[in-house]
Amino acid sequence: MTAGSTATRARLNADFLAQLGRYDHVTRLPNRLQFIDHFAAFAQPEQPMMLMLVTLADAEHYNEILRALGMSFSEDLVRAGADLLASLLPADTVLYHVSVLSFIVALPVDAIDTHPEAASRIAAAFAGSIEVNAIPIKTQVGVGLMPVELNRGAAESLRAALVAAQDSRHSPTGMAFYDHKSDTAHLRAFRLLADLPRAIASANELALHYQPRIDLQTGRCHGAEALLRWTHPELGPISPAEFIPLAEQTALITPLTDWVMHNAMQQNRQFLDAGHPLRVSINASPVNLSEEGFDDTLLQRCTALGLEPQHIELEFTEGMLATNSTRAIAQLGNLRRAGVDVALDDFGSGYSNLSYIAHIPADVLKIDQSFVRPLKQAGDDDFLLRHIISIAQGLGFRVCAEGIETDHAFVRLRELGCEEGQGYFMARPMPADRLLDWLDTRH
Ligand code: C2E
Ligand code: MG
Ligand code: MG
Repeated sequence: MTAGSTATRARLNADFLAQLGRYDHVTRLPNRLQFIDHFAAFAQPEQPMMLMLVTLADAEHYNEILRALGMSFSEDLVRAGADLLASLLPADTVLYHVSVLSFIVALPVDAIDTHPEAASRIAAAFAGSIEVNAIPIKTQVGVGLMPVELNRGAAESLRAALVAAQDSRHSPTGMAFYDHKSDTAHLRAFRLLADLPRAIASANELALHYQPRIDLQTGRCHGAEALLRWTHPELGPISPAEFIPLAEQTALITPLTDWVMHNAMQQNRQFLDAGHPLRVSINASPVNLSEEGFDDTLLQRCTALGLEPQHIELEFTEGMLATNSTRAIAQLGNLRRAGVDVALDDFGSGYSNLSYIAHIPADVLKIDQSFVRPLKQAGDDDFLLRHIISIAQGLGFRVCAEGIETDHAFVRLRELGCEEGQGYFMARPMPADRLLDWLDTRH
C-alpha cells in the first residue's frame, strides 16, 4: 500500500466519521450540530420562522423507564416518539434530534398561524400514551415555541426553546411560548447555585442573624433562631426563602447546613461566655437529617465547644416526615435522647395530615405564621389557632407561635396558653452583636 492511498483512506475515514457525527445514532435524524449549521438559513428577515421543540419526557421519568425496561427499550421509545412526531408534521420539514429526548423543527410562522393547532395537535397526540413494542408508555411531552430572532444565535435559541418546552408542562394546553420572565428566573436560579459554593467558602458573604424567641408567659428570652443571610457581591441580599429551596435540590445543602451549624454553635458559645445561656435553633433540611453521621457531628461539636445539648434546638419542616426516611427519624431520636430539642417548623403549612401529628418526633411545634399574622385586633378570628394549640398541647408538645406582629396577637396567644413566640412585635432577626446588646438592655 502506498503512502498516498493510506492518506486517502484516512481522509475517507475522517469524512465518514465527521458525517456520522452529524446524525443521531438512535433515530438517524440530523442532530444538534446540523441544526446549528442550518440555523443561519432559518434566520432570514423575509420569512419569519418559529422553532418548535418537543421533549418526550423529563429526565427523571426517562430514568424510571430506563431502570424498569432497559436501554434498548428506551431507544425504541425514542424512535417511536420520533416517528409519531414526523407523522404529525408537513412532509418536507426537517426534524432534528437535538438531545436524547428532544427534537426541534423550524416552521414558517405563517404555517403555524394557518395551522394554529400544530403544536397543540402534537401535545394531544402524545398526551395519552404511545405504544412501544406493544407496551403503552406514558410520555410527558413538552412542546415549546420560540420565534427565530436574527440576533439570537443557534445555541441560545435552542436553550430558549427548551425552557419553553419545560414551561409547557405547567400549561393546560400542553404547549408554551418562550417567556422571558420565567427564563430570567431560571437563569437567576442557575446563577445563585453556581455562586453558592464561593459564598460558602468566602468569609463575608454568608452571615447568621438571630431572632429572639420569647417565653410568652414571663416575657423572657431563652433562645434565638439562627437565620441565614447571603449578601451576593453583585446581586445584593438574597432571601433564604429563595436560595435554600434551590440548594435543597442539590448536594450544596450539605456544606451549607454544615456552615450554619458550625457558625451558630461557635456563636452560641460566645453568647454563653457573655453571660447569656441561650438555646440556639438551627434549621435543617430533610436531606441533612438523612445524611449518615449528622447527629454525631452535632453532638461532637457540642462537646468540643463545651456546650450542653440543651443549648441547641434543631428545626425541621414537614417535608422531612414526607420523605419517610428511617435514618432521619433515627437521628432525630438520637439527638432528642442526648438532650437536643427538636422542633417542627411551619406547622400547618404543609401536608397537614392530622393523623400523623401524634407521631411527630419533636418536642416543640412551631405554628406557621399564616395562622398568627392575621391576628391584628380584637375580634379577629382565632378559631384554628386556638384548636391547634389545644391539640398540640394535649399531645404533649410545647407550642411556639411564629409571626407575632401585633400587641393583640401577643396578648391573645398568652391568654391561649401558648408557651413561646417569635415575631417582629418583639424583635426582628439581628446580627449576633446586636442580639447581645438587645439581651443586655432587656435583662
Ligand atoms: P423559618 O425557619 O420559618 O423562619 C422564620 C422566618 O419568618 C424568617 O424569615 C423570619 O425573618 C421571618 N419572621 C419572623 N418573625 C416574623 C414576623 O413577625 N412577621 C413576618 N412577616 N416574618 C417574620 P427568613 O429569615 O427570611 O427565613 C425564611 C425561611 O428560610 C426560614 O423560615 C427557613 O425555612 C429558611 N431558612 C433560613 N435560614 C435557614 C438555614 O440556616 N437553614 C435552612 N435549612 N433554612 C433556613
Ligand atoms: Mg425555622
Ligand atoms: Mg417557620
